Amino acid sequence: MTSILLEGCRLVASMDDAGAESADTDIAIRDGWIDEVGPNVSGEFERRVDCRNFIALPGFINTHHHLYQTLTRAFPESRGQPLFPWLQQLYPIWAGLDQDMVAVSTRAGLAELVLSGCTTSADHLYVFPPGSEHFLDAQVEAARDIGVRFHPTRGSMDLSVKDGGLPPDSVVQSIDEILSDSERVIAAYHDPAPGAMVRIGLAPCSPFSVTPELMKQSADLARRAGVRLHTHIAETLDEDAYSRAEFGVSPVQLLSSLGWLAPDVWVAHCVHPTDNDVTGLAGSGTSVAHCPTSNMLLGSGLAPVRRFLDAGISVGLGVDGSASNDANDMRQEVKQAVLAARVRDGAGAMPVRDAVRLATRGGAAALGRNDIGSIEAGKAADVVMFDTSTLACAGGEQDLLAAVVLGATQPTMVIVNGKVVVEEGRLVHHDDEVLTRLQNEASRRLLTRAGLD
Ligand SMILES: [Zn+2]
Repeated sequence: MTSILLEGCRLVASMDDAGAESADTDIAIRDGWIDEVGPNVSGEFERRVDCRNFIALPGFINTHHHLYQTLTRAFPESRGQPLFPWLQQLYPIWAGLDQDMVAVSTRAGLAELVLSGCTTSADHLYVFPPGSEHFLDAQVEAARDIGVRFHPTRGSMDLSVKDGGLPPDSVVQSIDEILSDSERVIAAYHDPAPGAMVRIGLAPCSPFSVTPELMKQSADLARRAGVRLHTHIAETLDEDAYSRAEFGVSPVQLLSSLGWLAPDVWVAHCVHPTDNDVTGLAGSGTSVAHCPTSNMLLGSGLAPVRRFLDAGISVGLGVDGSASNDANDMRQEVKQAVLAARVRDGAGAMPVRDAVRLATRGGAAALGRNDIGSIEAGKAADVVMFDTSTLACAGGEQDLLAAVVLGATQPTMVIVNGKVVVEEGRLVHHDDEVLTRLQNEASRRLLTRAGLD
């Protein structure tokens, strides 16, 4: 039994259905669950934390990532290229990935995410060169080690250059190889129970790197096994042109024709949907992972998030791969969502609280969970706390939540599943210097393999 009382929080922004915010409020945590939220909670607790300077938010949920890309972070500043040539430059380098690199980069990326207030992260690993038999296993072990809730997806590519796709032969697999490994990792790791720390998804990569047959067979397997589906869609105008040339339809229409517009699907990006696409996404209950920093870094465009929300589409936030962000920083991504929507659609397009809702309730919906995303009794105990007595918040007393999101703050404490993983802004169980050294060593090995070091 573990119990913590977060005592007298200066503000609790619950992100419940009503958007309730309450001052001078306690949060009682027992055995990984939020037991009670309110003033003057009584009872015995193993630990009490004085939260009079802290604002408490539900832990942030990252819905799209490629953690291995932290090994090629800011890779020669991405050479200022859009997605297709950017990928063609990086695929051959990523083809050198090995299991140790996957383990090290997953640890480093998740550690950085946790330090930014992320308590649940998805990942989309889609590069499986020879020797990749246990990549997902290494990721799950790394996530357990960091202590974060983890939704790894078994990604895949089966359409290489020789068949008209974008990736080289060295990083694609056959449909049989992909599906048998998918079945294996679902059986080994997927936990459908409330409070689950690991859930698996299946994630063929994108229209220009997978065949329609792989999309269909992945969906069949996911639905038999009761796991969710994920992919990239409508990220760039190049992809839109590819889809129309190859299939005669928009990327989202292509998804629809493959049985991929459905409530068990969340798609990354959706920067360039048509009006019909938006209607199709909304009507089918498909969710979107919005990745504003990545879309801006690669010059892909600005997703119409306000339209999505007005149409009733669930939208989560994703930092996306660290070669196209290049930070694993969810607090910053919330601010980016505010900025991106306001640049696209005007100053009223994205209030701060709407952006925080994307990062919490929106993310929970995208990942198919109703046990995370808000601070309410009965929800999993994933809480992030920011210290409002810091210089970064000074002068922001009129709206502390906005001051935290828009200022240059990082959390002082992060709790996942009722366990403190960040305290006083530092990882409790890991040494940043060790993670950094191992990550730099792995990155150098990867670049050396590609003849770049
Ligand atoms: Zn991505």
